[in-house]
Amino acid sequence: MPPSDINRREFIRVSAAGAAGLGLLARAGAAEPSPALRATRKPMVGIQIGAGVLAQNQERVLDDIQQRAGVNTLFPFIYSHISTWAGMPAAGYRGGNFSVPHMQYYKDTLLTYEDMRAPEFGNLDLLANLIPAARRRGMKTFAWIIEDNVRPPVAHWESLYEIDFHGRRTDRHPAGPCYNHPQYRGYLLGLVEDYARSYDIDGIMWSSERQGGLWNALGAFHNGAGADPGQATCFCEFCQQKAKAQGINVERARAGFTALEAYVRAGRAQQRPRDGYHVEFWRILLRHPELLAWENLWLRSREEVQAAMFQKAKSIKPALQVGWHIWHNVSFSPFHRAEEDYAAMTAWSDFIKPVLYSNCAGRRMQQFIESTRENVFGDLTNQQALDFAYRALNYEEAPWDRMTSAGFSGDYVRRETRRACDAVAGTPTVIWPGIDIDVQWEGVGPCTPEGVQRSVKGAFQGGADGVLLSRTYSEMKPENLSAAGTALRDLGLM
Ligand SMILES: [Zn+2]
Repeated sequence: MPPSDINRREFIRVSAAGAAGLGLLARAGAAEPSPALRATRKPMVGIQIGAGVLAQNQERVLDDIQQRAGVNTLFPFIYSHISTWAGMPAAGYRGGNFSVPHMQYYKDTLLTYEDMRAPEFGNLDLLANLIPAARRRGMKTFAWIIEDNVRPPVAHWESLYEIDFHGRRTDRHPAGPCYNHPQYRGYLLGLVEDYARSYDIDGIMWSSERQGGLWNALGAFHNGAGADPGQATCFCEFCQQKAKAQGINVERARAGFTALEAYVRAGRAQQRPRDGYHVEFWRILLRHPELLAWENLWLRSREEVQAAMFQKAKSIKPALQVGWHIWHNVSFSPFHRAEEDYAAMTAWSDFIKPVLYSNCAGRRMQQFIESTRENVFGDLTNQQALDFAYRALNYEEAPWDRMTSAGFSGDYVRRETRRACDAVAGTPTVIWPGIDIDVQWEGVGPCTPEGVQRSVKGAFQGGADGVLLSRTYSEMKPENLSAAGTALRDLGLM
């Protein structure tokens, strides 16, 4: 075994022996297990759950997930205005913080108690209610905060949202609240402090499923074909100030986005550039290097936010585990993958949850190709673009005409887990892949117990320290949740 392969993850090395080709926990010579595994001698088995089901059926739900899948860590969607995450009907839903905002921690944001507090369940404080019940069962509780992909129906949120290069306020994905807006940072850091000080949580997971304006203008993400190339961000006063301070010419950046918008609109109208789609893209970048500078500004700003959240939590309670859910787009877009550098992230991460949702990945990859074939990959056929993506991203998955129904395989989960584990090797950061259990996505067929088992096994074969069953409990069919438990038993991990 080469030295680079010997790390603490070999603690749960999967043996080549055994009927299923999978085996026992095996501790490798000098390898050090992760702190989590050292403490528990078992992997983190987490599940994402909406506030709605917890508020209504907490004990029954905890019984169910413990019995079916050996879940030992809860990730309640604790703050969201999206009804799907809460596991509630959309009609009449508003959402927000399902625990109680303690306003002494929110001095640096304009959001009020009423803006934040979810009105759905009267006086219920979800974390206060859940944590002792979970602890009685030996379960940990993480506060799971995901940015909403549509602006919350609360007036004060409007001014926190990004501004596009035409000067218009945005209101939804792929834009979002601006990382450089001091009041958005104030809100996020207040939330971290509130959860860390007011509740006996074990950790915090945050996610922003976004990228910067350069890739958004291309629609370079799953479901990106409908993205408006004129809505690339962010040109708010704070971002402009920051750009100027870094020597980036704001007007040159704006000119670059203007050229990019024209290129993408022409591509969507099937008007091939004289020198081809790919050459034209590079020519725009060469003429407007500020486009890359702007992307970098956006990305570094998000990283600053993550590092600030990490430091805030640690300054209050060093034992808190702080980490990130990583948008599925790193599985499809080589551009976004370049941005999400797990090795660099270890400086502000106890754990990383790469979204490795296998069943819906086939359709999502198709959507990425369909969108970018109207610009940067426009010189290729669907299958050629897919072959390029598979090679660049290191997959061996189904061809174009079968990929939606086939989904991606357990081998995809294994490869992406291994890539993440290799990136964080030698650091304390651990990898907890997100496992697809009935993730709903347009055109995607049903998950199967066999598929779930393959994904869970793929994660541990890739060196994971745990798995996070996703997206949300209320989507999961009982037999598919049970399949996660079957895989853990087969692996000797439950
Ligand atoms: Zn901004």
